[in-house]
Amino acid sequence: MIVVGLTGGIGSGKTTAAKLFRSFNIPIYIADVEAKLLMNTSKGIKQELIALFGEEAYLKDELNRPFIADKIFNDKVYLDKMNAIVHPKVGAHFKQWLERQNSPYVIKEVAIIFEHEQQSQYDLIISIIADKDKRLQRVLARDKSTPEKVLAIMNNQMNDIEKAKLSDFVIVNNDKSTLEYQVRKIHESILKHIKNSTI
Ligand code: ATP
Repeated sequence: MIVVGLTGGIGSGKTTAAKLFRSFNIPIYIADVEAKLLMNTSKGIKQELIALFGEEAYLKDELNRPFIADKIFNDKVYLDKMNAIVHPKVGAHFKQWLERQNSPYVIKEVAIIFEHEQQSQYDLIISIIADKDKRLQRVLARDKSTPEKVLAIMNNQMNDIEKAKLSDFVIVNNDKSTLEYQVRKIHESILKHIKNSTI
């Protein structure tokens, strides 16, 4: 099964684009959504996060998001440690999910691929890019956040030009009217690529 990574900075439109791939019957796995679910359901993750952050990491059985967000925002070491706990579990969960799919390829949406040098986990990579000011406005309209927080996340991510250079396909998402067309073209190219590489 061909695994296509779909990546991009905060607010670039990854999930919006992933849903368009789904409309072409391509299975999509949204790593961030699955990670959030696993943090509430996996006993192993819960134990390790409590060991890292203390009992306050969970309120009853739910991850205490504001508490964790605050810790991570103020100390990047916490973010790295949390990722080291959660990412392998999401990776294992993705493998199980992949075995159940029956499709020429799947899309795995993940915010960070190049920053963690994980390109080798994908057969092809699509980067979605958009102007920073548009991304900022979109995230602020979607989330309860502040410009400072969104900009801090953006500045921790690789810039769009570098990402585009390392990708097989690039979607420019400044304007919603062209998004579906771009996704369709990439979908067709991926199907062609798969056909050509199996002849
Ligand atoms: P994150 O990295 O924060 O998870 P994302 O890359 O998955 O974000 P989306 O959630 O798809 O991005 O998009 C961010 C917001 O911008 C959403 O509210 C979405 O509806 C909106 N959006 C996406 N693309 C466009 C566009 N071309 N024009 C206007 N709004 C858009």
